[in-house]
Amino acid sequence: MTPKPPPKAPAAGPPCADCPALCCRYLATEIDRPRCKRDYDDIRWYLLHRAVSVFLDADGAWFLAFESPCRELDEAGRCRCYATRPRLCRAHGQAAGSCEFHGPLHRVRFSTAEEFEHWLDAQGLDWRYRERPRGRERGRSA
Ligand code: SF4
Ligand code: SF4
Repeated sequence: MTPKPPPKAPAAGPPCADCPALCCRYLATEIDRPRCKRDYDDIRWYLLHRAVSVFLDADGAWFLAFESPCRELDEAGRCRCYATRPRLCRAHGQAAGSCEFHGPLHRVRFSTAEEFEHWLDAQGLDWRYRERPRGRERGRSA
């Protein structure tokens, strides 16, 4: 999300000039913390898709991530629209612990539904969603 700046960028801030633009190669959006079987099942569905992962950051916030590089990232790992890059790109990496260059941002990450299911099992959580059997509709004759 943050650009690889020109070589003469100021020293303050994340070391983008020395980074292979790690944060420009995916996008992540915060999601609600799952609380029930239906939520767990939705996350299983996310994770059945390729190039999708779910992670918890250091603060325990949940994110849905897509391994999809930005269209503005060139072959050299530089941003083609550096001067007009989005707000999220400008802010990324400025806060302590928010730059991938220094290490993973996640404390737990799931790349497959199986990984998530194993984690839920380890937490002692019953995640197996089952539709309730439908009863007969009221007032309808047999
Ligand atoms: S717009 Fe530029 S800084 Fe933002 S993600 Fe794309 S390449 Fe990176
Ligand atoms: S991961 Fe950090 S150092 Fe690398 S481009 Fe993004 S903000 Fe800059």
